[in-house]
Amino acid sequence: MSRRVLVTGGGSGIGRAIARAFAEAGEHVTITGRRMEALEETDSGRGMTCRVADVTDEAQVAALFDAPFDVVIANAGGGSAGKLRSLTLADWNATLAVNLTGTFLTFREALRGMGAGGRLIAMASTASLKGGATIPAYAAAKHGVLGLVRSVALEVAKKGITCNAVCPGFVDTPLAAQAVGAVQERFGLSEDDARAQVVADNPMARLIAPEEVVAAVIFLASPAASMVNGHALSVSGGEI
Ligand code: NAD
Repeated sequence: MSRRVLVTGGGSGIGRAIARAFAEAGEHVTITGRRMEALEETDSGRGMTCRVADVTDEAQVAALFDAPFDVVIANAGGGSAGKLRSLTLADWNATLAVNLTGTFLTFREALRGMGAGGRLIAMASTASLKGGATIPAYAAAKHGVLGLVRSVALEVAKKGITCNAVCPGFVDTPLAAQAVGAVQERFGLSEDDARAQVVADNPMARLIAPEEVVAAVIFLASPAASMVNGHALSVSGGEI
């Protein structure tokens, strides 16, 4: 029987790849994001349900859960780079809002109707497990996501639900392209040199393919992962 799967931030990058993989596996996929056009591009005739919602908006998130989901992937996120001294309060608040508050709201609403076998999966980051000199807000938010995941995992354990995090290093998506562009601009490097700098922390010295992150999500959502709970699964070529 097909499961009901929700992917937030489904209009691009990792979320798009996750949504398409679940749809190809025959699950009933709902994707959500801020722009219908991007969601429809993800779907492109795959039979997904597209719903516009901003994950930082409590009422919009609540409205997504008019019927319960079996698998909920809190994927929406992002953040700008910069050192602490130049970080504005507005940037700090925005980064915490989408990554941390968005995951909180998504999981809280998801739990209202979720039954045994349910799966909560957060798209965290290697920045959940280590700091970075130019990502103080993003790392703080993603560390927070892991604290939330580990706590929710304990709360839901007896209900047969699991709550886990996937922690990728730099993945080949628009977000990584943005990071490469920022390094290029900051240090006056060529695109190749900037990319080499961005992947320097990955022992495999390359960007991670979205499909390599998808594989981890598919596993955590599967019955095979029924005893994996409160885990941070690093998909980083050995960075962590
Ligand atoms: P992306 O920018 O392509 O995707 C992020 C998605 O989230 C976009 O579709 C965006 O529109 C959506 N989004 C942003 N704010 C939102 C909001 N308030 N409400 C609803 N949707 C919103 O980037 P991505 O690389 O696919 O990132 C997906 C997740 O993976 C993020 O949580 C990101 O932090 C995490 N991640 C990415 C990388 C990477 O290198 N790309 C590495 C580790 C973790």
